[in-house]
Amino acid sequence: MRARLLAGAALALALGVSTAYAQDAQAPASTAVVVGEPAQAPPEAAPVAATPDGVSPDAAAPPVVAAPPPAPPPRSRPRPAENTDEGGLWGVSDRAEQDAQQSGQLERDPVLNAYIRDIACRVSGPYCGDIRLYVMNRPFFNASMAPNGYMEVWSGLLLRVEDEAQLAFVLGHETGHYAENHSIETMRTARARANAALILSIGLGAVGGGIIGDLIYLGTIASVFGFSREKEMEADMIGYDHAVRAGYDPTAGTKLWNNLITEGRASENPDVRRREARASVFASHPLSADRVEALRDRAATATGGGETNRERYRAAIRPFLDPWLRAELRRRDYGQTVIVLERLAAHNEDLGVIEYYRGEINRIRRGEGDRERAIQHYTNAIAQPDAPAASWRELGEYAARDNRNAEAAAYFTTYLERAPGATDRTLVEARIAQLTGGGQ
Ligand SMILES: [Zn+2]
Repeated sequence: MRARLLAGAALALALGVSTAYAQDAQAPASTAVVVGEPAQAPPEAAPVAATPDGVSPDAAAPPVVAAPPPAPPPRSRPRPAENTDEGGLWGVSDRAEQDAQQSGQLERDPVLNAYIRDIACRVSGPYCGDIRLYVMNRPFFNASMAPNGYMEVWSGLLLRVEDEAQLAFVLGHETGHYAENHSIETMRTARARANAALILSIGLGAVGGGIIGDLIYLGTIASVFGFSREKEMEADMIGYDHAVRAGYDPTAGTKLWNNLITEGRASENPDVRRREARASVFASHPLSADRVEALRDRAATATGGGETNRERYRAAIRPFLDPWLRAELRRRDYGQTVIVLERLAAHNEDLGVIEYYRGEINRIRRGEGDRERAIQHYTNAIAQPDAPAASWRELGEYAARDNRNAEAAAYFTTYLERAPGATDRTLVEARIAQLTGGGQ
């Protein structure tokens, strides 16, 4: 048991210190000690199908079939000896990576992976060959790069960055921590001052599981192992310099941090709202005002503009909006999700999906006026070409509850037409029969 707790603490350390933007997060799935070979890199992803800027996402362009990608550059760092503290940090990073490979939340789509990896490579300086990317469908703003090169990017982050330039800044920041060995430095500092009770409590949090375990775990990590403000600023500057050198918009980082601050103010959690300079109360890396200011000052010295590649970014994440927003709802912080949806709707794109999820917020929340708002949003959704089929099902439910039986049956019928593989088909067919069979 003791070994298990300590393993949890070690894993917490590896993940905690390398997580630049844990807005909230989940405890690692496993704390089992497995001594083994380093985790294998994921299979090489296929080349990204480029979507030229300015092309309407609805225009059905044939997929671009590119030549096989060149072999990635070699790793820049040798594996440290196992009996060193750095070797230990690599070991726990390897185990976390194995968990990621087996996770049901892993997004394996090769086009998405190649696209994000390409951006990471452009802003990582000489470390492109070190990166092994894992995109996870987890609804929190989080990216991390472990000392062994294992990088995670979460859907909660991808929903919140507005364009490629903002993503480039975050990934540049992350590889900046990696380049400067911030994890190992922070681990050595933490070890020098950490008290054993706190480290053990992290192990307990990790072992406890569930959302309460996660929160204890994150809160403790934040108080013990967060990167210093100096390291965060340093990573910001590296991220900025690398992104601007790669041709991206110099104001991207400032915009992104300001957006997160705005979202924090909209939270339904009073603790998050009160600390408005933080993305969340659980952030192990507070977004201090001087950090944002330093980035703004740096951007003020920029001599020219840069690319945002907004349309291309949106085209890359478009196929994932529905499942990622579904996961986002599980956070149950609708104040923040409303802001996320507002930002996604800023260019009047994907309004079917966005209006559906606005409807979902109101349907689930059940506050005063929410019922009417839900119906309005679903009604808006079905006027759009990209409305999820479930929009018709929800409208059918509301109509049935109001005894508008013919209308309800029509909505349910459309739902089944649009979702031929619906898992609730039998149930919905029975509802239709009941609604149209003469019985009330
Ligand atoms: Zn950071």
